[in-house]
Amino acid sequence: MSRKLDLSHSLQQRAEKFFPGGVNSPVRAFRAVGGEPPIIVSGNRARMTDVDGNQYIDYVLSWGPLLLGHCAPEVVGAVIEATRKGTSFGASTPSEADLAEEVIKAFPSMEKVRFVSSGTEATMSAIRLARAATNRKYIVKFEGCYHGHSDALLVKAGSGLATFGIPGSAGVPEEFVKFTLALPYNNVAALKEAFQKFRGQIACVIIEPVVGNMGCVPPKPGYLESVRSLTQREGTLLILDEVMTGFRVSYGGAQELYGIKPDLTTLGKVIGGGLPVGAYGGSAALMNQVAPLGPVYQAGTLSGNPLAMAAGLAMLRTLSAGRETIYPRLNTLSEKLVGGITGAAREAGIAVNANQVGSMFTWFFTDHEVFDWNTAATCNTELFGRFHRGMLDAGVWLPASQFEAAFLSTAHTEEDIDATIAAARKVFAAIRA
Ligand SMILES: *Cc1c(COP(=O)(O)O)cnc(C)c1O
Repeated sequence: MSRKLDLSHSLQQRAEKFFPGGVNSPVRAFRAVGGEPPIIVSGNRARMTDVDGNQYIDYVLSWGPLLLGHCAPEVVGAVIEATRKGTSFGASTPSEADLAEEVIKAFPSMEKVRFVSSGTEATMSAIRLARAATNRKYIVKFEGCYHGHSDALLVKAGSGLATFGIPGSAGVPEEFVKFTLALPYNNVAALKEAFQKFRGQIACVIIEPVVGNMGCVPPKPGYLESVRSLTQREGTLLILDEVMTGFRVSYGGAQELYGIKPDLTTLGKVIGGGLPVGAYGGSAALMNQVAPLGPVYQAGTLSGNPLAMAAGLAMLRTLSAGRETIYPRLNTLSEKLVGGITGAAREAGIAVNANQVGSMFTWFFTDHEVFDWNTAATCNTELFGRFHRGMLDAGVWLPASQFEAAFLSTAHTEEDIDATIAAARKVFAAIRA
């Protein structure tokens, strides 16, 4: 270990007294890559600094939200201004409608929205609404997709194609997931089979239109179109979970990129500008079934929080104003980074297969093309762990799991990309053995 990490180490030890694994969300603990996490004290544009003074070019960006990088001046200014007026009222403020207007402008499939405080809440609530609206019980999700940690969505695929899911976590009774069907991603036949087996009983299909949570896995050409037409035919609602892809893969999310109109959309991450915001929405007819207009109950003490709304609004207005240049530039820089690192792996004789959609990407340590959970599982995670540790030592912060997407922000420069590729070249040479 070439960096000094003494203060991080002692702070991590202290945190382990207070929190399970010393963390408040599991992947922060670096268990999957076999190391101890540096403790971060500040961020500035594309960089983070740890408590020992080490700097990192950040490709995690708080797991997606920081599309403008750390401390984007627009966002910081808006949050400070909002804070001075009061942090929470438990009553409506103008900023909620301001943010809703920006969201709806970018996502025309959403006529009405409801703001919540996390992606977990957004997907959980959207599913409740889908079940109420269809008066059906079953839901379909796909293996390798993550939709937050509510019980019904913490499900692994059973064996075989269209089978019942099995609980993906201790503490989730089988009975709680018996209406959740977990199917392989990018597999139209499996979805058709599920619709045959459970005709008239499937309330909704929830899907990451570009998966980020088994690493970046794009939909095969025509796949989302098939999911859309099958759900439509069966009277099943389609929920595009765009918590990660919304305002990320394009301004209007994956639904704009691929031209798919869902019944319900869930958002999070970028729309909060780094503060806790989630949202779900769809047609007015559907959304009017939510309380207080309709029978679907859903509430939140801090929902539509004015600081979070201010941060999200500053983020979305910046993206809206700059979208013609922001997204093409993110795409070009991402291509350069992904291609550069894949090329460096090839030079070193290390099998790496990369997936990229816009500024979302993953280097999979496998010689297989990765298009679903089974192909992702062919990765050499031990080698990935060595790569991760080497890159961290070289001042590059990557997701501490083979199965999480990395991101780029508008704050990253050509020089950052070049430095990252140069670092990877050295790390690949060192871990080749
Ligand atoms: C992150 C994520 C969630 C969960 O959001 P939280 O804010 O962590 O609860 C849900 N769906 C997708 C696609 C995500 O990437």
